[in-house]
Amino acid sequence: MEFHIDKAKVLPKENLEKFLEGLKKLGRLIAPVRKGEKFVFDVIRDVLDVEINYTRTILPPKKFLLPYRRERYTYSTDTLEFKSSFRPVEQIIFGIHSCDLHGISILDSVYLRDNPDPRYLEVRKKTVLIGISCRPDEYCFCLSTGTAFPDGANWDLFLTDIGDDYFVSIGSPKGDEIILKLRKIFREITKEDLDRYKKSTSFKKALFEIEKLPDFGRISQVIELEYDSPVWEEEAKRCLGCGTCTNVCPTCFCYTCVDIPDLDGRKVARVEFTTSCQYPYYSLVAGGHYFKPTRADRFKHRYYHKLVGYLYQIEKLGCVGCGRCSAECPAKISMVETIKKLRGTADEEELREAPEQTTTG
Ligand code: SF4
Ligand code: SF4
Ligand code: SF4
Repeated sequence: MEFHIDKAKVLPKENLEKFLEGLKKLGRLIAPVRKGEKFVFDVIRDVLDVEINYTRTILPPKKFLLPYRRERYTYSTDTLEFKSSFRPVEQIIFGIHSCDLHGISILDSVYLRDNPDPRYLEVRKKTVLIGISCRPDEYCFCLSTGTAFPDGANWDLFLTDIGDDYFVSIGSPKGDEIILKLRKIFREITKEDLDRYKKSTSFKKALFEIEKLPDFGRISQVIELEYDSPVWEEEAKRCLGCGTCTNVCPTCFCYTCVDIPDLDGRKVARVEFTTSCQYPYYSLVAGGHYFKPTRADRFKHRYYHKLVGYLYQIEKLGCVGCGRCSAECPAKISMVETIKKLRGTADEEELREAPEQTTTG
């Protein structure tokens, strides 16, 4: 039996290559590719390079919306003439996992809500977001942050693996347009497809080790009430202040801006660079005062901004549970463990394990 549901179609897996070739004709195609043992989002020249079986990329797809180095304009010190080289291109980002789609939605709120950033808006207008379902690993905790599924995020198409096919949900008019343009490679949904799609939710949930996930219930309150907890100092002792945790985060948006003159000083480029609240200079203000003078202050600040500050700014938590900050931290600091320590649940776990250890010891 066929259903004519306007908001979804089925893409047989054997048509995936044709789908990617079709997308490539619509603009610059960006997708996950292998890089050594890891994965990165990159511009695709050959669709056979696209790697859909990945858990997380080193950097989130954010880098194609907010590059780490962005030139605002150049100006001449002789004529004071300003020039901009900003020319966003039509682009399709394929293969984004649910957490990263939620990450982009958070950036959308930050950049477009009250005072829309014209450049970000321009880039977003020219970008199509295509998500794909995924399997969590030991670092993922998107089930705790409510971002394990794409509902509530901004995206155009979302592919859910249902066995031999992808169930393709359509999330916007841009998604509709793509389906219309490439309609020959899709088919209508059957009752079996719908059943398989419904099962995919419980299948993903079952892949998490629930007892290892952090409890995000009233997390903002916990963080605020634990302002003076010794946990901050203890955890920060291991922190190197390298900023990796913020550089890999799909929701971080802090940047700094510098003027870079050429050799004779006649042409100057004004450039924005991504920065990090984990660097000492981040909180340095005129007069030489540091608002976050110690490593522990800076360490705590990241958790505060993610789990308290974003709520005030955009009414959402700033963490989507992608696990990158823990997976990439050179000091093996885990956000999940810090949260558990603040809640005191790590101690409870140790207590539960204690009798067994005592008897064997
Ligand atoms: S990645 Fe780890 S070591 Fe580096 S600043 Fe973040 S918490 Fe500290
Ligand atoms: S704080 Fe860590 S787990 Fe949360 S979104 Fe950022 S990188 Fe991912
Ligand atoms: S303050 Fe820190 S945690 Fe917050 S967005 Fe900036 S770099 Fe990220």
